[in-house]
Amino acid sequence: MAVDKAFFDEMEARIPKGKVRTRFAPSPTGYMHVGNLRTALYTWLIARHAGGTFILRIEDTDQGRLVEDATDVIYKTMAECGLNHDEGPDMGGPVGPYIQSERRDLYGKYAELLVEKGFAYRCFCGKDDAAEENVAEGVSIHKYDGRCSRLSQEEIQANLDAGKPFVIRQKIPREGKTTFHDVTFGDITVDNDTLDDQVLIKSDGLPTYNFANVVDDHLMGITHVVRGSEYLSSAPKYNLLYEAFGWEIPTYVHCSPVMRDAHNKMSKRHGDPSYEDLIAQGYLTTAVLNYVALLGWAPKGDLSEQEIFSLDQLVEAFDIAGISKSPAIFDLAKLDYFNATYLRALAPEDFSRVAEPYIRQSVKNPSIDAAAIAALLQARCEKLTEIPEKVDFFDGLPDYDVEFYVNKKSKTDKDISKAMLSAAIPVLEALPVWDTDPIHDALIDLAAKLEVKNATLMWPVRIAAAGKLVTPGGAVEICRILGRDETLRRLNHGLSLLG
Ligand code: GLU
Repeated sequence: MAVDKAFFDEMEARIPKGKVRTRFAPSPTGYMHVGNLRTALYTWLIARHAGGTFILRIEDTDQGRLVEDATDVIYKTMAECGLNHDEGPDMGGPVGPYIQSERRDLYGKYAELLVEKGFAYRCFCGKDDAAEENVAEGVSIHKYDGRCSRLSQEEIQANLDAGKPFVIRQKIPREGKTTFHDVTFGDITVDNDTLDDQVLIKSDGLPTYNFANVVDDHLMGITHVVRGSEYLSSAPKYNLLYEAFGWEIPTYVHCSPVMRDAHNKMSKRHGDPSYEDLIAQGYLTTAVLNYVALLGWAPKGDLSEQEIFSLDQLVEAFDIAGISKSPAIFDLAKLDYFNATYLRALAPEDFSRVAEPYIRQSVKNPSIDAAAIAALLQARCEKLTEIPEKVDFFDGLPDYDVEFYVNKKSKTDKDISKAMLSAAIPVLEALPVWDTDPIHDALIDLAAKLEVKNATLMWPVRIAAAGKLVTPGGAVEICRILGRDETLRRLNHGLSLLG
């Protein structure tokens, strides 16, 4: 097949030059791993920090599953996280299409070019033939022995004429060494004879990940390739491909895996949470992003002690040199800390907005003011999913143990509690205005009049109003939110329980 030079020239001419260009290149799996999110974030940060371009590319050549829904998860996550892209399937750009399955024809042309140049060859061995003979020869079944690279032109033509299916394999030099440089891992050198003649184009005409990735990164003008360290071992083969084409090798930034513990990578299959799981578990996107940024990256200099970073601050501070080689352990307790910090830092109305759906999971009574409950919760919650259980008593008084009225520190027991409730009920009944300050002042005055500690009065009032030992907010706030009628009903109920 004659090489179509004009086509290749035109493809080259499209490549934007002179600016940092990075890409996030997820395979649509239907969810976003924490490790993937981190790759997306670092890739985005490198582009934004440098005032460059961030590209979204969908790598769907290996997918048997329904890609469309899975792609939506990617768009949704990126948008929620504020990781906006400048080029991608949904908005186009100078080097599209941005979905690999739509670039299908292109890879074949580039593979043919390599065949023409002698850096690749057609392999007609069925998968099984090659594997069987390799086993017979004592060669690893994973490493193809390269026999089709030695076919004569006539043999190749005869196979083609007979319509034999074939794959295209990379022709790796048998001798010498290949070195590649990675920002995180430094220089890595391997003996070429350890590398296999990997398949570039499968018998169905679709490229393998390893080939499509190199072709696309070049044609999209990618300057920095950020990805998981599981691809490190393939990097020498990528370099040989770049060299075969005569293309410039991008800067590689491989990131160590995110671990569940000292020995195991996080994995969705083993029950570790994806990004969506974390959000469903009540974590804020901002907190997740901040925590994920620090899983394998640390700021330097003046900022080395800082933990809380907004996305804008990360853009400012992010520096590839701060990416660490050692694997990071994902620690939910640490994420709880970040989440609590972010929840507390929200403006009250923003906290109320995110908390309200969780409050309404248990507080169905519309006359109860969810915003007022939110105000009690903001300083007292680490995760949004804790909320329904914390505030359920607003909706209905639970059955509770009368022993709750006994509390040493507040100097109350059942008899004292009975006396306190008896005194409090008429005072609250007579209050002209039902609001925090009047309720507070009336109860404090009453405690003074009864010559008891404030807590001795507040404890039984709170227990009677909430029916729970631990509540967000004290007696005054709870009574205020419940309203006068409901408060009095509950206090009278407490009195009857106390006999
Ligand atoms: N599609 C690959 C993945 O989702 C991307 C690897 C890369 O960024 O090069 O793991």
